[in-house]
Amino acid sequence: MSHSDPNCLFCKIAGGNIPADIVYQDEHVLAFRDINPAAPEHLLIIPRRHIASLNELGPEDTTVAGRILQAAPAVAREAGIYDSGYRLVFNTGPDSLQSVFHIHGHLVGGRKMGWPPFPGGAVEHG
Ligand code: AMP
Repeated sequence: MSHSDPNCLFCKIAGGNIPADIVYQDEHVLAFRDINPAAPEHLLIIPRRHIASLNELGPEDTTVAGRILQAAPAVAREAGIYDSGYRLVFNTGPDSLQSVFHIHGHLVGGRKMGWPPFPGGAVEHG
């Protein structure tokens, strides 16, 4: 399987074919500012390799999955929210409203957040 999808927006950003405000990059991952921020600081951490979602993570992706997590503190430091705190969210599948099918961790911070993270708060089944 190819490690890049020519139709994938985030593969194009990783390949330098679409501009992005990149704040961190290394051999495995890169991080850039979300174009439609949901918090004062909102960055996306993605693997260079095309993986559609957490549901498609395979055993061969163990290193890159770890690299995404390990990049988070460095990205938070770049964004100035290492000490104040941040949240890392991976929307996965329809209920989560995932819209770009290349794994990305939303790293958000710069303000006090609520918990539970969704409006209403109560657990509703069905
Ligand atoms: P999700 O809905 O969890 O799949 O998140 C996709 C995120 O990508 C959204 O927060 C969008 O605002 C963001 N996004 C879409 N296009 C771009 C882009 N060209 N540059 C930066 N962020 C983008």
